[in-house]
Amino acid sequence: MHPLSAQQMLAVWERGLGRIPLERALALLEAACPEQDHDTLAAMSLGQRDSCLLRLREWVFGPHFVAGSICRGCGQQLELTLHVDHLHPDTDTVPAQVPISVGNYHLLLRPLNSLDLIACLKLDPPEMARAMFSRCLISATSDDASIPASKVPDEIVRNAMEDVIQADPQADLEIIVTCQACHSTMRESFDIISFFWSEIDAWARRILREVHVLALAYGWKEADVLSLSQVRRQFYLEMVSA
Ligand SMILES: [Zn+2]
Repeated sequence: MHPLSAQQMLAVWERGLGRIPLERALALLEAACPEQDHDTLAAMSLGQRDSCLLRLREWVFGPHFVAGSICRGCGQQLELTLHVDHLHPDTDTVPAQVPISVGNYHLLLRPLNSLDLIACLKLDPPEMARAMFSRCLISATSDDASIPASKVPDEIVRNAMEDVIQADPQADLEIIVTCQACHSTMRESFDIISFFWSEIDAWARRILREVHVLALAYGWKEADVLSLSQVRRQFYLEMVSA
């Protein structure tokens, strides 16, 4: 994986417009990891994928994340600054296989990946859980006899999928938020895809305006403006508006 240039970021942003978050995540990784094909990246566990996105975001915008929330205790708007080190779970080791035993059922599953989400996108929630379970199931036995995924009861499917998600903690990251006004403490999920994408979207719209201003003023092409460092671009913008 390598950092993205301004041209590459803008190309990913354009490609991701009107796409769902999952596709945006894969578009970002494909641009940052040209040595790996789409299916290899899509087969990474969701936690491994999000860990890569977190690192890419750090390379692009730095190690600090400013997130907004609303206190569920008093309704106060909250702003918190997080360091990237606080957005990694205690362990980022994702097991290739997750063994689960409930009663007489012994299951072996693998963590969820983007291909599973793509395959199950159009299903209703009850069907989705069962379809994801079937995709992730490596083996299942009941009373020492091998059984197909369809013979595993719904309740065990639900518990198994919760265990599979917990085995890949970066995919289901939570942060603790404390309100300074009423001292309420809340758990909030942190979604790196939507966070990173909203930053890319704001950056892309700003940089296109900057291209417009500098192209008009100096007759430069888009590529000329994008190849400038942020410092030099800012310097020229200040001279144009002086
Ligand atoms: Zn509060």
